[in-house]
Amino acid sequence: MTETSPKMKEYFDGINKEIDKALKTANKARSKQLDPEKKVEINLAKNMAERVEGLISVLAPQIKGSGVVERIMELEKKYGTLDWRVALKIAEEVAQEKFCKFKNKIEAIEIGIRTGFAYVTVGVVSSPLDGLVGINIKKRKDGKEYICVKYAGPIRNAGGTAAAVSAIITDYIRQKQGYEKYDAQPEEIRRAITELQDYHERVTNLQYKPSEAEIDFLMKNIPIEISGDPSEQIEVSNYKDLERVETNFIRSGYCLMLSSCIPLKAPKLWKQLGKWGNEFGIKSWNFLEEFIEIQKKSKAKKKEIKTEKISPDYTYITDLVAGRPVLGYPLREGGFRLRYGRNRISGYSCQSIHPATMHILNKYIATGTQLKTERPGKATTITPCDTIEGPIVKLQNGTVLQINSIEEAKKYNKEIQKILFLGDILISYGDFYNRAHTLIPCGYCEEWWSQEVNQKTKEEQSKKLEQYTTKPYKKPTAQQAIQIAKQTQTPLHPAYTYHWKLINKKQLIELIQWLKQAKIYKTETKTEKIVLPKNNAKEILELIGLPHKFINNEYTILEEQEAEIINAMFKLTEPEETIKKIENTQEDTLKIINQISPIQIRDKSGTFIGTRMGRPEKAKQRKLTGNPHVLFPVGKEGGRLRSFQSALEQGKITAEFPFYYCEKCQKQTIFPKCENCGEPTKQKWKCPKCGLQDEKKCTQHGQNKASEQKTIPIKEYFEKILKYLGTKTYPELIKGVRGTSNKEHIPEHLAKGILRAKYSIHVYKDGTTRYDM
Ligand SMILES: [Zn+2]
Ligand SMILES: [Zn+2]
Repeated sequence: MTETSPKMKEYFDGINKEIDKALKTANKARSKQLDPEKKVEINLAKNMAERVEGLISVLAPQIKGSGVVERIMELEKKYGTLDWRVALKIAEEVAQEKFCKFKNKIEAIEIGIRTGFAYVTVGVVSSPLDGLVGINIKKRKDGKEYICVKYAGPIRNAGGTAAAVSAIITDYIRQKQGYEKYDAQPEEIRRAITELQDYHERVTNLQYKPSEAEIDFLMKNIPIEISGDPSEQIEVSNYKDLERVETNFIRSGYCLMLSSCIPLKAPKLWKQLGKWGNEFGIKSWNFLEEFIEIQKKSKAKKKEIKTEKISPDYTYITDLVAGRPVLGYPLREGGFRLRYGRNRISGYSCQSIHPATMHILNKYIATGTQLKTERPGKATTITPCDTIEGPIVKLQNGTVLQINSIEEAKKYNKEIQKILFLGDILISYGDFYNRAHTLIPCGYCEEWWSQEVNQKTKEEQSKKLEQYTTKPYKKPTAQQAIQIAKQTQTPLHPAYTYHWKLINKKQLIELIQWLKQAKIYKTETKTEKIVLPKNNAKEILELIGLPHKFINNEYTILEEQEAEIINAMFKLTEPEETIKKIENTQEDTLKIINQISPIQIRDKSGTFIGTRMGRPEKAKQRKLTGNPHVLFPVGKEGGRLRSFQSALEQGKITAEFPFYYCEKCQKQTIFPKCENCGEPTKQKWKCPKCGLQDEKKCTQHGQNKASEQKTIPIKEYFEKILKYLGTKTYPELIKGVRGTSNKEHIPEHLAKGILRAKYSIHVYKDGTTRYDM
């Protein structure tokens, strides 16, 4: 364990203290019984074990405080945090009713599986509740019983691996509870193959489509039946009306489990189970080893047909809305250059660009802006990172330069005519891994270069170069870079490597011919500058992102650093010979350059990633229609503005209200606390025949109603509330809702509306309010 610094500890303690304070205040307010609930419903979870318990208690409240939390923590000590064995064991013990009792054996097994599943998903997604629908005990052909587990669409939120583990957990409990293995019938196997095909073709593209051989093998070997709720309006094209399959409709949860979950994650599953599966008593999944071989063969066959090449993906701009900036087209040069890695403020689906890039894009990309991306995922959130490459821009006077700091960005921002390169986008390897995206080439960068240098150098020399090869990398001068390259036989430093691959052979010849006319200013030790006459070839320098000055609308000047590099790369003294050499080759530009240049040059460009701006307005407060202050119905009487003022003028409100009853005053009201005597009231339910009752169900007539449409004398209520608040005045505009939308139509307390209107606080779509200080 790493130790927390006192400063950090103070920070975290401060947060905890504030949460505590807020929770106490909220509970104190709730205890006044002005709201339907007497206390805050959300519990704080200190750790993962508590989150798991909290999540499962939604379905099985008896699990709370049953000892599950302590047991999980104990198991974690034995097996390690996040080890699947913790999930398997806790699932087994919950199913055995070691902690609390359940309605029946099936419920016990089901809650057991869900608990284990919640552990694997670290208690943060709802998949254990809504992705796993439930289990059935079904009969094998020989009459013995097996377990069928049903999945639904939300299983996708768990992630493929965790979802697959839920099936392993189910099987583990199956064995412990003494059920037999599932005996897949030939028509059920055909159904699986057909349903996956149909889902892939008619519903949505599968991320991973297993071959027939794979599905056939899996169906024969998975020891439980995987099933699912019908989710689509489409029936399977064949193998309908099977005895043991409840529906003919396509089941998305089922299709996901049998594609991007179990088959796709099989290698990952086997990596764990291969280690401890036998010893833990799950030999029933040893088939995975053979399955992976079958999968490899299937994949190899597919590869013969199509070679894996990265092609532009237009998905992120197909649904483009007018006015939304596109920062780069798919794979188009000049867009963000892929750079692998992460920093303290990037990570999972959060990527970084240079702060100078943010600035020169007129600051419309800020920390936290969402970008839709071409790859590896669909979208990302942007944070800044100043140790990656900044943008290369062309100024109005024709000068081209790379901007490496926010200060430079500010200095040149107004003069920028064109952004030639947006600079790097820092993406973590995990983002590729998680989306199962093939790793694609990145451009030459310091991380790569330093590995090559370290490999080629021995102790003393590598120590000397340490400042350049360890983070934060110091940038050598051009002269030093050339020297390092020559001495260590490594490629030229990335800072002096330009986008050579982006020009063609013809352009390269044009460039060299132009360089032939150069005036080179040299001293004994260095090249000072190269001055070039006016020529359209200047554009080529822009294409490869080589910084240069443009003077008097005539001369192109390469200053010291660039002049050194160009002079070292091309023997400018004998251009004719060089050109002849180029003309005689058929290779691509980068290869040609490496034939001419005495220093090895790598590809600077790598992969450009297309991006566009997401929908920033989505991050705004989610306002309700009418922007109300309180979730209290004002009915038609509220008028166009849904206001109490207009309802008060009418003197009444007609809307759906619940039944509360004050026993002291012997009077019906609409609040959980009597507005006359201040006593708590009792919620009632109405039977159309018997009248108000204490229960939700009438013993004779079934379901009672929780609310009814009635007309209330709003003036009376309003005046009592004002009295309660100890005021006579109230804001000019207090806005309610047309009608409440909760199931029992319980309104918020009216006093809240008056107070919120006073401070301009509104209720948002999720039922929260906020007050910014
Ligand atoms: Zn009363
Ligand atoms: Zn009744």
